[in-house]
Amino acid sequence: MKQEMLGAPVTVLSGIGEKRAQAIKTLGLETVRDVLFGYPRAYKDFQRVLEPHEVEVGVEQLTMGTLTNLNERRISQGRRVIQGQLGSRLNLTWFVYHKGQSVSFLYRKLQKTDKLWVYGTAKPGPYGLEMSSPEFFLRAPSLGLMPVYPLISGVSNQQRINWIRAALKQLHFVEECLPLQIQGKYMGRREALERIHFPRDWQEQERARERLVFEEFFLFHVGLQRGKKQTAGIAHKPSGKLVDNYLKRLPFKLTEGQEAALNQVAEDMESTRPMRRLIQGEVGSGKTIVAEYGAVKAVESKGQVAMMVPTEVLARQMSQRLKASLGPLGISVELLIGNMKSKDQAKIRESLATGALDVVVGTHALITDKVAFHNLSLAIVDEQHRFGVRQRSALLGKGNADLLVMSATPIPRSLALTMYGDLDTTEIRDLPAGRQVVDTRLVDPLRRDDVYRYVVSRVHQGEQAYVVFPLIEESETLDLKAATKEMEDLKNGLLKTARVGLIHGQMGKEKEEVFEAFYAHEIDVLIATTVIEVGMNVPNATVMVIENAERFGLAQLHQLRGRVGRGTKGGICFLLAYTMSAHSRERLEVVRRSNDGFFIAEEDLRLRGPGDLMGIRQWGQPLFRLGDLQEDRETLELAAEKAHEILTLDPILESFPYLSAELDHDNW
Ligand code: ADP
Ligand code: MG
Repeated sequence: MKQEMLGAPVTVLSGIGEKRAQAIKTLGLETVRDVLFGYPRAYKDFQRVLEPHEVEVGVEQLTMGTLTNLNERRISQGRRVIQGQLGSRLNLTWFVYHKGQSVSFLYRKLQKTDKLWVYGTAKPGPYGLEMSSPEFFLRAPSLGLMPVYPLISGVSNQQRINWIRAALKQLHFVEECLPLQIQGKYMGRREALERIHFPRDWQEQERARERLVFEEFFLFHVGLQRGKKQTAGIAHKPSGKLVDNYLKRLPFKLTEGQEAALNQVAEDMESTRPMRRLIQGEVGSGKTIVAEYGAVKAVESKGQVAMMVPTEVLARQMSQRLKASLGPLGISVELLIGNMKSKDQAKIRESLATGALDVVVGTHALITDKVAFHNLSLAIVDEQHRFGVRQRSALLGKGNADLLVMSATPIPRSLALTMYGDLDTTEIRDLPAGRQVVDTRLVDPLRRDDVYRYVVSRVHQGEQAYVVFPLIEESETLDLKAATKEMEDLKNGLLKTARVGLIHGQMGKEKEEVFEAFYAHEIDVLIATTVIEVGMNVPNATVMVIENAERFGLAQLHQLRGRVGRGTKGGICFLLAYTMSAHSRERLEVVRRSNDGFFIAEEDLRLRGPGDLMGIRQWGQPLFRLGDLQEDRETLELAAEKAHEILTLDPILESFPYLSAELDHDNW
């Protein structure tokens, strides 16, 4: 399989038909590359099968024995517990839902077997050791390290494994993207890909990971540094009538921060040096004005503008907004997203190529090969920290364009350098006048019912609310079940008189539909397990309840509450914390008292300590697939150094075609 084949659709893999391909496309698995570079999030250690008496407390392990003392009991309406025993002291428990008289399906299955393999963690119990809800096998599983992939709805772990095996089987050779002189001690690319998925032991996994982390960091830094080395950029004209008109039409006075940002952008855009600017500012600080201003300026110089946002909902919102603000100036604005009739998409691509269209707003759909511009002179990425450097550079590659990145996530300076090393930064630290701060309350869980009664009362006044549960996408199934159950309970209990929508990270397209319904006020309360879309702007939403607030990062809490009170009514945010140590109280107090995102971000880092692995994830940075900014810090520094070496040797990567291809042709 050649490099292009990495970009082949998943349907080339046996076992993936057209229908399935469509379904998993929305979940981010579109090409063979997506499948292969979707790394396991963990492994199950199936290297050795223990005897039941060898099982130790507190570690996940695989055990085999004869199943005895099997029984099933009813514990409440619909709920049952199944118990059994392996060897003389290992007790097993499974909880199942089953209504009716007969025994459960699981019980029947277990009844038929006598040897059983179980995988799980044992705890000490009154009669020996206990394993709760272990995974089990009726036949011997294959030995080694079993990859565990992030959950995707409708795709089992075993299916993922099968696809990856199929891909590897067809892929005899992968072009090596690391230049020969820096390959050094690293495992080859093809081997590393195979071994990260199917390591025979931990050492092998470690070596494969080392290689792929280095590769990831190296590509990142080449991308960063190469952008910087680009020579002459486009010089936009000094602002004229069109820009004047735009500014005159603004219904409010700019804040000082906006004023400064606009001046900075004007200076950048007018200079021949390519603009590479990040505008950092809280949600609601008015960054969109800066983007609009840049767009008008580009159009005034006969350039085109592309604005990339992370989701289709946001793309739609943004294109409506730009149509309203730029349309009256005679600037054409259109939307381009994957979820549009292909005829319409083609029409828009056509108008981009001829130059008939001035401004396009879209998702990743903008960076596919099919899109070409007549004269792209400004690329805007509404980052909401979702896009990586590569996607940015893919968009930039469509013209000799200036770049404006907008981020709503204040990031501590020490991290910003790594993540945005290539960008000049402008901060907007003031909020528009009259913007209310969100009234934030730390509530005792004993008063939970009161909180939801309050939510309902606001709903009955025609307002909307969010309820947020902490659950990161990588979480265990069990956790998700628990959260989903709690969400259902809320919906049918405390919130039963409201129209409630549920979303969680493993939903595909339906997620966007629920968002849309909330946006359209067909839903009163949105209960979500994942972080609510950062750019989601529903002015009618005034109340937020955050469950298990102690489990969120501070910066994240601050981001979340920024969703409410965007309209004329003030917002209120309830933080419900169920386990409250002095430390978590101190943390939550920071959010309750301060409304300065930059301050909160710094405090968050301070209170958590730099060694905290959650550090980056908390800022929601899916920047690297495998590498961890803290844990792999040294590798990151090495990669930066090597990237510099290579670019000094060959700034345009002429002699490194595979490296160059990897940077250009890949649009993850
Ligand atoms: P951001 O993108 O930074 O979250 P927006 O650009 O969406 O913020 O602005 C949030 C809201 O504030 C919008 O409704 C916008 O019209 C309004 N706004 C922006 N700048 C000002 C200002 N200087 N004065 C008053 N309102 C403003
Ligand atoms: Mg915005």
